[in-house]
Amino acid sequence: MRSLQVCRCGEPMQFAERVDPKPAGSEVLLKVLAAGVCHSDLHIWEGFYDLGHGKVMRLQDRGVRLPLTMGHENVGQVVAVGPKARGVKVGDKRLVFPWIGCGSCKVCKRGDEQLCTSPRFLGVYRDGGYATHLMVPHPRYLLNYGTRMKPEQAAPLACSGVTAYGALKKLGPLIKTEPVVVIGAGGLGLMCLAILKAMKGKGAIAVDIDPLKRAAAMRAGAMAAIDPNAPDAVAQVQAAAKGPVWAAIDFVGNAQTAQLGVDILVKGGRLIVVGLFGGDITLSLPLIPIRAMTVQGSYTGSLSELQELIKLVRNRPLPLVPTRTHRLDEAQAVIGEIKANKVIGRRVLTPAG
Ligand SMILES: [Zn+2]
Ligand SMILES: [Zn+2]
Repeated sequence: MRSLQVCRCGEPMQFAERVDPKPAGSEVLLKVLAAGVCHSDLHIWEGFYDLGHGKVMRLQDRGVRLPLTMGHENVGQVVAVGPKARGVKVGDKRLVFPWIGCGSCKVCKRGDEQLCTSPRFLGVYRDGGYATHLMVPHPRYLLNYGTRMKPEQAAPLACSGVTAYGALKKLGPLIKTEPVVVIGAGGLGLMCLAILKAMKGKGAIAVDIDPLKRAAAMRAGAMAAIDPNAPDAVAQVQAAAKGPVWAAIDFVGNAQTAQLGVDILVKGGRLIVVGLFGGDITLSLPLIPIRAMTVQGSYTGSLSELQELIKLVRNRPLPLVPTRTHRLDEAQAVIGEIKANKVIGRRVLTPAG
């Protein structure tokens, strides 16, 4: 087994080799066919989130231990099963749900493992898919994504897909009657456009500073694509909506995007914050009640939401987002491109492909 590890935050990842592990109990060992490179891998590699006001949240203070093999968007082929693993066999290709909790607390028992306070997330707290092999603790986290999607098309559903779906679900039935303002047209934003279409939503207005990403959003079927740096950006979004804006999702999460998200909403509107870029905004307290405003955070999604999402997109046109594959040893370069904000759609590693 060969894996690419973060040994020190912000320094180039290094290869490590070891004997292929043997699954015990309910564990399942997979050969990694596809591992998506997510924007949050940049933060994990750098080692911190920017909380604004000059404060940072260090991931090592939150229980992330090094060396770590990143990669939480994985598709693999089963190569060995533990004696107590039921329901999968050698050769099966599966999408891996990475947001694994402790399994025994109230939150995990009600099915929200992604919100567990003792997380065992693959590629964050446990070794992930930037490797030839991946160990998964239980077959319940292995999802059958059918035969139509290629591994690199299915892998991004585990984070980017379920994150966009989880955010859209928080807007409820609004999405059928109102356009959704999608701030950030990177991998997540484009995935959101594809899923919104599959959910039979009214449509999306994309917002991005990068003209190439705005063009990608238009190709993906956005009603309009707006530059937030334009002096009349708020008015442009409202004009594109042809009426009040009820719903926005911020997939970037910096001071400028969150402020725009708040500023465009009508009374009673909802802003869902997803992106982890970093920074802070000032919210005038009286305006929260006066504008009956909802600002809600959304963090990935649950196992049952990922199952729903697979059903929802199973027969959709592919790929859901523009996707490019890379060898495992190109991972560091891809992270660099994400940092430079140069990636359109999704980049996926093929460690054992
Ligand atoms: Zn992710
Ligand atoms: Zn738990």
